[in-house]
Amino acid sequence: MADPIFSSLPMTIFEEMSGLARELGALNLGQGFPDDPGPQAVRARAADAVLDGDNQYPPMLGLPELRQAVAGHYRRTQALDLDWASEVVVTSGATEALAATFLGLIEPGDEVIVFQPVYDAYLPLIRRAGGVPKLVRLSPPHWRFDRTMLEAAFGARTRFVVLNNPLNPAGLVAPPEDLALLAELCVRHDAVAVCDEVWEQVVFAPAVHRPLMAFPGMRERTVKIGSAGKMFGLTGWKVGFLCAAPALMPPLARAHQFLTFTTPPNLQAAVAYGLETGADWFAQMPQALAASRERLAAALAREGFKVLPGQGTYFLNLDLPASGVEEPDRAFALRAVREAGVASIPVSALYERDPVTTVLRLCFAKADAVLDEAATRLATARELSRRATA
Ligand code: PMP
Ligand code: GLN
Repeated sequence: MADPIFSSLPMTIFEEMSGLARELGALNLGQGFPDDPGPQAVRARAADAVLDGDNQYPPMLGLPELRQAVAGHYRRTQALDLDWASEVVVTSGATEALAATFLGLIEPGDEVIVFQPVYDAYLPLIRRAGGVPKLVRLSPPHWRFDRTMLEAAFGARTRFVVLNNPLNPAGLVAPPEDLALLAELCVRHDAVAVCDEVWEQVVFAPAVHRPLMAFPGMRERTVKIGSAGKMFGLTGWKVGFLCAAPALMPPLARAHQFLTFTTPPNLQAAVAYGLETGADWFAQMPQALAASRERLAAALAREGFKVLPGQGTYFLNLDLPASGVEEPDRAFALRAVREAGVASIPVSALYERDPVTTVLRLCFAKADAVLDEAATRLATARELSRRATA
C-alpha cells in the first residue's frame, strides 16, 4: 500500500537543483554548501581518528568528549548552562535530531506551529509523527512574525512551535523582541519550542544570534538543535546536537536510539576537537562569508538586480520583480540553470500553501570568480526570460 504522506512528495528542491547542476555542468548556487574545504586541523583530526582511533560503535548518546565540548561551546558563545550528561545528545546531523524530536515528542493530533518558508524536512516528519501543522506565513522583505500572526496560530491544541533561527532561506537573524514575543506565547499556551539553530555560527556582525532557550520560561520547554556541518562548513559530515532539559530528553534519546543509534566516532572526535580549539575559526569564518555576500551583492547590483537584506546563513535572496524578472521564481530558476548555467533555489518550493513566488535564493559561500560569473549568467537568464515572455 502506498504511504499517502511520503509517496506524494516531490524530490526535494535541493537535490533537484544540484542534480540539474551536475547534469548540465552549471555553477551551483542552489543547495547550501561552501567551496571552502573547512578547517584543515579539524579534517586532519578526523583522518587521524579513522586511522588510529576507535572505529567501533561509540556510546549511543555520543562521545562524552563531544557532549562536553558542545556544552562548553554553548556556554562560551551563548551563555547557556547545559549539563552535558543529561542535556546533550549527539545525532547524525540536525536532520536526525529533528526526526528524533518529532517522533519522540509529538502525539497524534497535537498541533505544531510551523513558519513558512519551511525547511523541507519539517512537514513530512511532523505529519508522519501524527502532528497537525499550523502554518504561519512569513514574507519578504522582513520575514518577521508579529503578535497578531502568533495569536491567530496558537490555540487550545497547540503543543509545539518550530523555529528556524537564523532563518533559511531568508538569512533573518531573529531580533530579541520577536523571540521574547514567541517565548511569551509558548509559556502562555504551555507549548514546547523546537529550535533549529543550525545557522547559529553563520551570523554577520553586528547581528547577534540569541537562543530562544535563554528567554524567560523557555529553559525547560525548548529543544535546541545544532549542526557541526554548518559550524565548520563540512555539510557532508552529518554530526548534529540535541540539547534539552532532562524532563524532555528521554523520548528524544529513545527515538535517536532507534533511528541511527549512533554517529561515526571519528567525526565526533574531530568535531569535539574543533569546538574546543575553534575560537579563531568561529571569528574568521563569518567575516569571510560576509565578504562573499558583499561580493555577490555588488556583482548583482552592477547587473541591476535587487537584493533583500539578510544577516546570516550562506544565502542571499533576489527580489525578482524589482530586478526586472517577471517570470515566477521556479520558471526563472529552471531557465537560469538550463539556459544560462547557474543553479539557484526558488523560494516558493519552501512554502506548502500560498507561496511567495518572487524570491530566488543564491548560496554565496563560493569563490569570488564563481560569484562574479554567476551574476553575469543571471543577467543572461533575465535577458532570455524577457525575450521568452515578451
Ligand atoms: N535545518 C536547516 C534549516 C538547514 O538549513 C539544514 C541544512 N542546511 C539542516 C537542518 C540539516 O542539517 P544537517 O545537514 O546537519 O542534517
Ligand atoms: N540545508 C541545505 C540548503 O538549504 C540543503 C540540505 C539538503 O540538501 N538536504 O541548501
